[in-house]
Amino acid sequence: MQRIGVLTSGGDASGMNSCIRAVVRKAIYHGLEVIGIRRGYSGFIDADMGPMNLGSVADIISRGGTILHTARSERFKTKEGRALAMENVERFGIQGLVVIGGDGSFTGASIFSQEHGVPVICVPGTIDNDIAGTDYTIGFDTAVNNVVDAINKIRDTATSHERTFVIEVMGRNSGNIALAAGLAGGAESILIPEIPFNVEDICKKLLNGIKRGKLHSVILVAEGAASGLEIGQQIKALTGFDTKVTILGHLQRGGIPTAFDRILAARLGARAVELLMAGETHKMVGIRAGEIVATDLTEVLGKPSPINKDMYHLARILSI
Ligand code: ATP
Repeated sequence: MQRIGVLTSGGDASGMNSCIRAVVRKAIYHGLEVIGIRRGYSGFIDADMGPMNLGSVADIISRGGTILHTARSERFKTKEGRALAMENVERFGIQGLVVIGGDGSFTGASIFSQEHGVPVICVPGTIDNDIAGTDYTIGFDTAVNNVVDAINKIRDTATSHERTFVIEVMGRNSGNIALAAGLAGGAESILIPEIPFNVEDICKKLLNGIKRGKLHSVILVAEGAASGLEIGQQIKALTGFDTKVTILGHLQRGGIPTAFDRILAARLGARAVELLMAGETHKMVGIRAGEIVATDLTEVLGKPSPINKDMYHLARILSI
């Protein structure tokens, strides 16, 4: 193998740059050439790509987002679109591909690799931490820290004004961000799609808290569980409490990647290059119990990535 391509696809996640840096430098260390593909599969189809060198990834380790940019491409979902991408693979002499993204990006990578025989290794980069075969995805830890930072700030206001705050967080269909940030931020209730909840029970807990002298309450709602606005209205209607709602939105995504995300990104990116050099394909690199592992994409795509139920129960115990 002499030349590999790298792209980022789907939603951006902090740490993607650290991963691009690791892929580029590890490949160059082993004498490979790297083609950087911009704007995900869109750039792959449109030949928006070019060579990268050691300097191309200088000074990006601490930057959020992705220097290669990312996009969603409907054309890559078609055979014709993927055939155009294959023409660029031949034109640029790409012999292996590293795809950094979420499960949608991996589905595209899987289909493309099987259709055209191009070796592909995927790296999980999404804030949602919703991918089977890895305990963590790149960007999750930074997003959780962003949410915890917001909870800390909102808690000051909640305490000063003796108010109830509902905070809606991202995660798509996964409650992982809400759960981790809720436990770290000491939220009174955590509403996630994986566990049924009842607003009346939440209100009872709020009332009990007030009785024992609590000055404020923070309720974290995963976007996949319910609308924060609706939960806020229901709590207000049932308790009469002054209930404020904050939807954190895209504040959660970006920012300086945490050390955890940078280290994860470095290890996963480097392993992806090793796998391509070893002739592997159709795999995702991930971290399990601290070890970097490779899993075939058939064991990843469409497979559930369950939440840690022990963590959920602990959060409940600690917020009585
Ligand atoms: P995130 O979880 O951060 O949103 P993602 O990788 O899951 O990331 P998607 O928008 O689902 O994000 O997918 C990214 C891109 O992958 C799509 O825009 C499309 O180009 C490609 N893709 C997704 N599904 C398919 C598919 N079935 N066939 C071919 N390509 C696909």
